[in-house]
Amino acid sequence: MEKIKMVTPLVEMDGDEMTRILWKMIKDELILPFIDLKTKYYDLGLKHRNDTDDQVTIDSAEATKKYGVAVKCATITPNAARMDEYNLKEMWKSPNGTIRAALDGTVFRAPIQVKGIEPCVKNWEKPITLARHAYGDVYKNTEIKVPGAGRAELVFTGEDGQEIRQVIHEFTGSGVIQGIHNTDKSIGSFAKACFTYALGTKQDLWFATKDTISKVYDHNFKDIFQEIYDKEFKDKFEAAGLEYFYTLIDDAVARVMKAKGGFIWACKNYDGDVMSDMVSSACGSLAMMTSVLVSPDGIYEYEAAHGTVQRHYYKHLAGEETSTNSVATIFAWTGALRKRGELDNIKELMEFADKLEKATLGTIESGNMTKDLALITSLKDVNVLNSGDFIKAIRANLEKSL
Ligand code: NAP
Ligand code: MG
Repeated sequence: MEKIKMVTPLVEMDGDEMTRILWKMIKDELILPFIDLKTKYYDLGLKHRNDTDDQVTIDSAEATKKYGVAVKCATITPNAARMDEYNLKEMWKSPNGTIRAALDGTVFRAPIQVKGIEPCVKNWEKPITLARHAYGDVYKNTEIKVPGAGRAELVFTGEDGQEIRQVIHEFTGSGVIQGIHNTDKSIGSFAKACFTYALGTKQDLWFATKDTISKVYDHNFKDIFQEIYDKEFKDKFEAAGLEYFYTLIDDAVARVMKAKGGFIWACKNYDGDVMSDMVSSACGSLAMMTSVLVSPDGIYEYEAAHGTVQRHYYKHLAGEETSTNSVATIFAWTGALRKRGELDNIKELMEFADKLEKATLGTIESGNMTKDLALITSLKDVNVLNSGDFIKAIRANLEKSL
């Protein structure tokens, strides 16, 4: 078979530990034999980040802006233990944080559903994609523990000297106060990323906040979404037969539980943090979850939702067999290849991505899976495969379909 040709390179961001091992296996077994792969390769493995004073992360983000589509392996976010383990010059920032900031992006996560791994919520027939705003609110707060009686005030001092002042509370005893913020620019980017992604994936978009209680703060989110929708997206949504609707967060939660799935649920930062964990656990496993960062101007970075699976890596280093689930990383590749195919109009590339996903799910449905899935599947008499054999089984399946 002739290999599929590419036009524009993908930005390839290699990573750390067990996922770095899987990365190479996936490329060797599932990508390189079939595609004349073009990538701009960046090694975001912690050693190389340290060697380059993290310049490689910045370069990879810049390359993503230039080429438009990236695929990223999970990476270590350094902490104190990693400082010693890798003899780091500095506690480098989270690469995901750096890339997210550079692209001003929103993260979309959706469970990968497969027969045999059923969501706890029986009526969820299709995946629910969670879009989480990744800036501000309680994640950038200022808090004070109030020692005793006194007045707490909220004060804004404009550059022009204008002052806005409001009483938060007249304390008669001790308590707590918190200041949070967001910016119209960041909320606008979030809204645009959500509308663009909904159109791109042909799904309805739900957005919910607590605007009945938070009449200024949350209401501002609602207004910005509506304004951008009316101005830039209403016609496109109508032409595509899609719906955007806003509702109260309580109502959204109740509806989600009764829904069939197949839509995007946009959440403010805290709601998205909590609800994405709920959706993913209800669907079985973090290793069965796609994750893509989308910028407001339509730049895409695909990754797995899980980390570098450190515990498995140490077993691997000790020469023990591992059974690490590569599905989320495979889907990061298929997501990126399909998007590249779409942008460059390469039908074969898009079809290949579909077939690889089908082959992956088909492998699991035929009872061949990694240990994490074997523990939760409703299928009987399953075969537990090691990391390498699982990928080889997918290859055998893929070759049948090509
Ligand atoms: P993790 O890598 O997600 O793994 C936590 C546990 O979840 C594993 O020990 C394993 O459980 C299970 N697991 C996760 N992915 C799996 C897979 N593909 N197949 C099978 N089991 C899987 O989280 P972590 O151990 O807390 O973090 C390790 C490193 O990843 C950290 O240095 C962190 O900074 C980094 N991290 C990176 C990203 C990213 O780049 N996107 C995200 C999160 C964390 P068992 O051990 O019970 O089998
Ligand atoms: Mg969380």
